Amino acid sequence: MRAVLADLSVPRYLLTAATRRPGLLLSLRDDLPAPALPRAPGWVRLHPELSGICGSDVAVAHAKSSPVLSAFYPARRQIPGHEVVAVTDAGERVVVDPVVSCVHRGFPPCRSCRDGLPYVCERFDQPGAAGCHGPGIGFDAALGGGWGEQLVAHETQLHRVGALSAHRAVLAEPASIALHAALQWRRRGDRAVVIGPGTIGLLVMAALRRLHPDLDITAVGPGSLAAAAGADRTLPAGPRVVETLAELHGGRVVRPRLSRPLLEQGVDVVVDCVGRPSTLDLALHLLRPTGMLVLVGAAGRQRADWSLVWSRQLTVQGTVNSGPEPSLGGRPTMAQAVEWLSDPSYPVDALVTHVFDLADWRAALSTAAAGPRASAVKVTLRPNARREPGAG
Ligand SMILES: [Zn+2]
Repeated sequence: MRAVLADLSVPRYLLTAATRRPGLLLSLRDDLPAPALPRAPGWVRLHPELSGICGSDVAVAHAKSSPVLSAFYPARRQIPGHEVVAVTDAGERVVVDPVVSCVHRGFPPCRSCRDGLPYVCERFDQPGAAGCHGPGIGFDAALGGGWGEQLVAHETQLHRVGALSAHRAVLAEPASIALHAALQWRRRGDRAVVIGPGTIGLLVMAALRRLHPDLDITAVGPGSLAAAAGADRTLPAGPRVVETLAELHGGRVVRPRLSRPLLEQGVDVVVDCVGRPSTLDLALHLLRPTGMLVLVGAAGRQRADWSLVWSRQLTVQGTVNSGPEPSLGGRPTMAQAVEWLSDPSYPVDALVTHVFDLADWRAALSTAAAGPRASAVKVTLRPNARREPGAG
């Protein structure tokens, strides 16, 4: 079958800046065997219609990775693509929760899985019956991935989408990530800031808006889609954010002699969807005492001044993946996301900005990496375009 394959036999973090160039590890292959179904009940074969390019995929293409996380991404070969809308052999259209946890690997449940938190399973490094090294689909070529013509998944990972358009269905995974992040904040206050209006940031805003119709939401960063997604306003990232929020809400600007201004009477929650030193620093300067910083997406090694975390008793909440949500009565995040995506008033139609055939994967990756400079939000690949002569 045809797929984009990442050769990870050299650990990414060992590559030097000189050898680290976009696409170095990736190649389009026509000679790959279709992934085998694991020898355990419940595994099915999928044929992707549309697959998203995630920031973590762009990081693979640029050979970026974290030394510590390399323990949990041990696969030597990867077919990227964990944001997938696909058709089963039985002809059903589905989206896929990529997490492969104890139940799929044939292990007795670890503590996380037993507690109903499979998205932080303690056996991501142990392949088990699934034969999958890593946290799930799209991270080990053994199961295939969304950037190939076929992949395999367990039926418990699938959510049926019926006739939902592929442009909306392909957002089910990032919408689940975003909802899972938004649910980490138990509402204490009326003001939120979301930094980074890319796919995840926009979907965080849309989730916050659905969960809290009267919440005041400020988007920080480039782009023009935040208002449609549910933000009350968009501010450019930069030194003026603190002053602007103070003017809007009557907060007080405190000016340390040796640091950027900070907001007294600040906001209740900041969701950082970028994870750079500058955005972490801004987030900490915006939060009121006892506020919460929610981190979404890949973080990596950062230099940041964390002093405000203890001096203002802030909570820093990391989030990853999605799964059964205690605050939704145990309902899977993706089931809620699919329900929202099936509602035409859920404002995400503008998010898929680009669709490329698999053969054009290099252009797709460079478009995704350029982000706002290419007017790109969600860039997608169509892995089976060759087999769909009628597909538009
Ligand atoms: Zn587990």
